[in-house]
Amino acid sequence: QGEKSYGNGSMRGPPQQQPPAGRSLQLRPAKSPDNSFTFGNVCAVSAQDIPPSRDGGDVHLLINGAFVLSARPLPSFPRGHISLNDAQRTWMQVALTDVVEAQAYDPFSHGPQSYLGSMDIEVGFAGKKSTETPYDQDELAQAFVNTYRNQIFAPGQQLLMDYRSVPLRFTIRTVELVDISSLKAPAGDAAQRRDPQARGILTPESTTNFSKDARSPIQLKGSTRRPAANSVIRPDFKFEDLGIGGLDKEFSDIFRRAFASRIFPPGLAEKIGIQHVRGILLYGPPGTGKTLIARQIGKMLNAREPKVINGPEVLNKYVGQSEENIRKLFADAEKEQKEKGDESGLHIIIFDELDAVCKQRGSGAGGGTGVGDSVVNQLLSKLDGVDQLNNILLIGMTNRKDMIDEALLRSGRLEVHMEISLPDEAGRQQILKIHTTKMRENGKMASDVDLAELARSTRNFSGAEISGLVRSATSFALQRHIKGGTVAALKDDVAEMQIHMEDFLGALEE
Ligand code: ADP
Repeated sequence: QGEKSYGNGSMRGPPQQQPPAGRSLQLRPAKSPDNSFTFGNVCAVSAQDIPPSRDGGDVHLLINGAFVLSARPLPSFPRGHISLNDAQRTWMQVALTDVVEAQAYDPFSHGPQSYLGSMDIEVGFAGKKSTETPYDQDELAQAFVNTYRNQIFAPGQQLLMDYRSVPLRFTIRTVELVDISSLKAPAGDAAQRRDPQARGILTPESTTNFSKDARSPIQLKGSTRRPAANSVIRPDFKFEDLGIGGLDKEFSDIFRRAFASRIFPPGLAEKIGIQHVRGILLYGPPGTGKTLIARQIGKMLNAREPKVINGPEVLNKYVGQSEENIRKLFADAEKEQKEKGDESGLHIIIFDELDAVCKQRGSGAGGGTGVGDSVVNQLLSKLDGVDQLNNILLIGMTNRKDMIDEALLRSGRLEVHMEISLPDEAGRQQILKIHTTKMRENGKMASDVDLAELARSTRNFSGAEISGLVRSATSFALQRHIKGGTVAALKDDVAEMQIHMEDFLGALEE
């Protein structure tokens, strides 16, 4: 491995910039015969010319005022030189006899728009055509991101990568940035997407769309076009797929407010002053889908299976037992943070009926033991106190926001508050659709069932009540069948059974 494994993805986060103090250096291109000093697109420079970043890693350079490349400062590399491979020289239109001007470049100079949402890339053989075997686009995309993550890309850029021992050439056609303050692609037309200044950092969240380079095309197979990742909630993403009805806006709001910082690599949050949110509070009437949302958030953030606990369960009359319960809840996150530091995955803790512990704080309730107090204090210390954990997300839930201790709701704690209220008519129809999916797929729902009508007649129903209504309609249908026949006939009957509008109406009247 050694110095050849440039850009192999082992870098943690974007390189920390350590500029050569605003100076601009004159460097002579050095060609290494096998392109080994630019493998993975990172060029080599002398560590005496350009000091390594604070963590000893790569730096970003602006070449000739227009092109950005990652560079690795090496003690042994000759001073006054920069290694540039064929693809890089073609891109920058630099000859081996030229001298280039290099300056430090701040990868975050575009602020919240520093990251790539998606890129269109042409790919072909770097040398002569060497295989007929088609390349799997998803695997290629994976290899590409592994090799080049945290590097900066702009339209027109060319790069080389050995893939399965075959040298390939990539040409960036268009890039789309993502604005992480809004999680939307900044408005821009096709011309802007080809603007070489529209550069951004490649992340594992960025989407790469490959097409064949006309000069020496490789064969591609697999998905031709993947959904653009320019909004974090993808354009083709349907909330109904999550089984949550009527809460699209709430869900994307939470996502934008609480998780913009989480889905991008480390480094950005500090640079543009976004803090990771450690806790959110979902409040509103029971049965409206708070638990559903909390679980889906976990899935979308790629977190482990969340731990779920509820307030009354935590409280324990034995002295010290409640604290012990909380301690256990955080133990896994604590262990992983100790072992892996910043690389630790995200641990989600869902705390249902949070008001049960808060009610008691300072109120002298709970037998005057102050158990609630110590539970809240312990939560606070995990969130922002002495035992602070960086790898947790606490999702608190309650029907009574007014009962929650103010101290828990301050910034840095359960700071994002989202009301989940009863669904409106459109929401109810979505929920009805979700809960009748199976029934419809199996041909069990008669054609006279009018979900729009049912949505109208279920005012003030919660999601849970709607799901109950569907269950109850099923049992109405079953009753009709049982009344009609003998037990022996029943089996066939049930196979034939359909749920009709009258069953829903019967259930409604219950
Ligand atoms: P909460 O946590 O707000 O009390 P839950 O998320 O536990 O409510 O909801 C209970 C059940 O009701 C869910 O498992 C689901 O079957 C149904 N439900 C509630 N809200 C919705 C919704 N918005 N969309 C689909 N199903 C819902």
